[in-house]
Amino acid sequence: MNNNLLKGGLISLLLLALATIGLTTAQQRPTLTPEQLERLTIRPIPGKEGLYLMPGFDGAMSGGNVAVRVTDEGVIIVDNKFSYSYEDITRQVASVTDQPILYVLNTHHHFDHAGSNASFMPRAQVIGHENVRINMLRNQGPSASPDGAPRITYNDKTSVHLGNAEVEAYHLGCGHTNGDSAILFTDQRTIHTGDLFIWGERMDGSTLAPFIDYGNGGCASDWVATLDQILALDFDTVIPGHGPLLRKAEIRIFRDKFEEMVSRIRAQIASGTTRADIVQELDIADLNWPLAPDRIEAIYDELSQQ
Ligand SMILES: [Zn+2]
Repeated sequence: MNNNLLKGGLISLLLLALATIGLTTAQQRPTLTPEQLERLTIRPIPGKEGLYLMPGFDGAMSGGNVAVRVTDEGVIIVDNKFSYSYEDITRQVASVTDQPILYVLNTHHHFDHAGSNASFMPRAQVIGHENVRINMLRNQGPSASPDGAPRITYNDKTSVHLGNAEVEAYHLGCGHTNGDSAILFTDQRTIHTGDLFIWGERMDGSTLAPFIDYGNGGCASDWVATLDQILALDFDTVIPGHGPLLRKAEIRIFRDKFEEMVSRIRAQIASGTTRADIVQELDIADLNWPLAPDRIEAIYDELSQQ
């Protein structure tokens, strides 16, 4: 082996080691207190026959919310938390039904929502927007196996019909990523929004703010229009990507705050504020969304290119 090859090999090994460290840090199973475990236990959604929630409050300790639709012909779930969450989800679902999980829908590709896709695949159909698959494969790199990437994909909309349930997945435009879906339990007038809508506090008490994943096609400019299309659907109960069960009114509040944030950044751009000054000039304290300076600069970059 010549020197360059050796060097290349060592660098690849180092990169692989770094990538692995990053992955385990992000997906390490946290130690939870009995109170926290109780908070994350599956529960029926009041007034919604056959519909359950496995709560999720953040991307670190609890993962995203998992919706569980039980029918007499099998179970449909929406999202599945982390790579290590498969056993926990199947055990909790088995505590409310003997029916098997047959369909797994992804609201988007992030590891705290679609992390255990691969574990479900031997026994369930995993379904996601085509960009969920594309983003997963790209992020895994060319040499990785396509573990966990949905085998069934759609563009604008798809439906799953099982037993007496109908579940509709809508891709309504760009926002958190370029592959977000809002998933509607039509007969129970309940929607899982994925991270297009998040609300409240993480389990560590910090406040959740919208995250635009520019590396995976997210955008601030269309997010409000995407929410407007969600609001046009027929539902009264909302499962956010992270946070408690809510109503349509909270999506409207979130939407209005987002519109306000975008319009204030646009106004700064129009008045000549530079990228270097945007964090200092922009006042969004009243919105109660703690956005890191680099997040605000990224939104500035996007909106100033339009
Ligand atoms: Zn996400």
